[in-house]
Amino acid sequence: MGGMRHLALLLASAVLLFAADKPAAAPAPVAPKYQEGSCCDKAVKKGEKCVHPCCVKAAKAGKVCDHCNEPAKK
Ligand SMILES: [Zn+2]
Ligand SMILES: [Zn+2]
Repeated sequence: MGGMRHLALLLASAVLLFAADKPAAAPAPVAPKYQEGSCCDKAVKKGEKCVHPCCVKAAKAGKVCDHCNEPAKK
């Protein structure tokens, strides 16, 4: 029975790989990159949008608020 199980797993991963190879019909827009743990990040994870005035303003300009989402320091 172990052999059959293994084969099924192989088939499943082959199907997954094949699906991943196909070009997406409609490429999803790049999601804004919020800093982990920021107000915006928390809001998005709750399925909401950050309501901070600075963040709303940045979002309207198609940006991410850099007051609340500081770029990662090197
Ligand atoms: Zn925010
Ligand atoms: Zn902000």
